[in-house]
Amino acid sequence: MTDTPDPCDLLVDDTLILTLDGEDRILSSGAIAIRDRRIVDIGPARDVAARWTPAARIDGRNRLALPGLVNVHNHTPLMITRGMIEDVGLAPMYTPGIPQGHWLSEDDAHALSCLGLYEVLRSGCTTVVDFYRYPQSLARAAAELGVRAVIAGRVHDADPAALATGRYEHLTRIGEASLAENAALIERWNGHDGGRIRCDWAPHAPDTCSDDLLREVAKLVEAHGGNIHTHLSQLPNEVEAVKARSGLTPPQLMDRLGLLDRRLIAAHCIHLEHDDIALCGRSGMTVAHAPIGNAKGGRIAPIVELAEAGARIALCTDTFSGDLVEAMRWALSMQRIHRQGHVLDARTVLGWATAAGAAALGLGDAVGSLEIGKRADIVLLDRTSPSLAPLVDGYGLLVHGASGHDVDTVIVDGRVVLAGGRLALADGDAIVARAQAVANRLWQRAGRHPIG
Ligand SMILES: [Zn+2]
Repeated sequence: MTDTPDPCDLLVDDTLILTLDGEDRILSSGAIAIRDRRIVDIGPARDVAARWTPAARIDGRNRLALPGLVNVHNHTPLMITRGMIEDVGLAPMYTPGIPQGHWLSEDDAHALSCLGLYEVLRSGCTTVVDFYRYPQSLARAAAELGVRAVIAGRVHDADPAALATGRYEHLTRIGEASLAENAALIERWNGHDGGRIRCDWAPHAPDTCSDDLLREVAKLVEAHGGNIHTHLSQLPNEVEAVKARSGLTPPQLMDRLGLLDRRLIAAHCIHLEHDDIALCGRSGMTVAHAPIGNAKGGRIAPIVELAEAGARIALCTDTFSGDLVEAMRWALSMQRIHRQGHVLDARTVLGWATAAGAAALGLGDAVGSLEIGKRADIVLLDRTSPSLAPLVDGYGLLVHGASGHDVDTVIVDGRVVLAGGRLALADGDAIVARAQAVANRLWQRAGRHPIG
């Protein structure tokens, strides 16, 4: 009896596949069949091709297939500060003399978000957490470009104008406006496109949110579900301000207010006191590790110690560069400097950028590895790139040698969103030009005249 092949939407055929599944299966000549947004078959190319009649086919020869990378913390509108903020200050919200978030219009936020999401897709990231002002602009950009996204607003009640001069003024009207913005985002965008876009709550940081506002967020998260995204122990002045206000360190304050638990994804965790490490570890929270951003501030988060204490680690770019491949390399190398020894390995760090990020977001059953039943979020790297040879175990070269620029094709939810390095659903050249025009205007307002 001969089985008749079933129809499928897309077949990635005859390619080298690193599945990153539970057994770390590697298929030297494999194929992936996709139907209704999901992987319905994966295995040796000859077997898979015989079982399916695809509507479209991608020739995977000279390609390397990986699960899409997961970037657990980013703010695309802050792209406007990169290349400048690194040498003049730390986080933009605390730095005068640069374009400030409250200068952006909704349209500006959309233009910059398109740029940021273009860059992350171009570098092999298929899931990104993005939060800032005008979150509906971020959601719209993610919907248009085809990336999987978790979007939130920037909830805070500290007055940004006062903060840029080093003063904390918590104003109820600012807090209420930011809560309303996030609530409207959830109402409009949560679950968009079959769940490709999800919306969460993101209190900016324990110093820029008052205790009352953080308590309110805790209630809202309890009712809504999803994650809590924040910045934690990012800067010495944040730690000092929280201690002056409460007598507690930032992790202790978050714990007291019911926010330090497995739902929390906290960027940075750099300026921790010793007891904080054990507290964060016990909570099961996830550290969104931003090694490139940490390094620019001159100090790296103790992520090996945090992991040993029980915290979960995932990776992010936090605006500076959208290249999570680069972030993997920095994460590993910076810990070897920090610990002055041979800690971590490439496979561990690749896991932080895939399955660990997916698990932190509650998406462990959906993305993070290439397996039957999961969403078809797949990245194809160009094996003719000189930085992708010689491949031996695959993992080492990916982390120590590859670059996001080796990415050729990106599939999200079974749809090709990047092909030959170019966006499939939007005009990448127009996105870059539009973002530059926004930057020209806002940097001129800040007193600088861009050369572009
Ligand atoms: Zn951030």
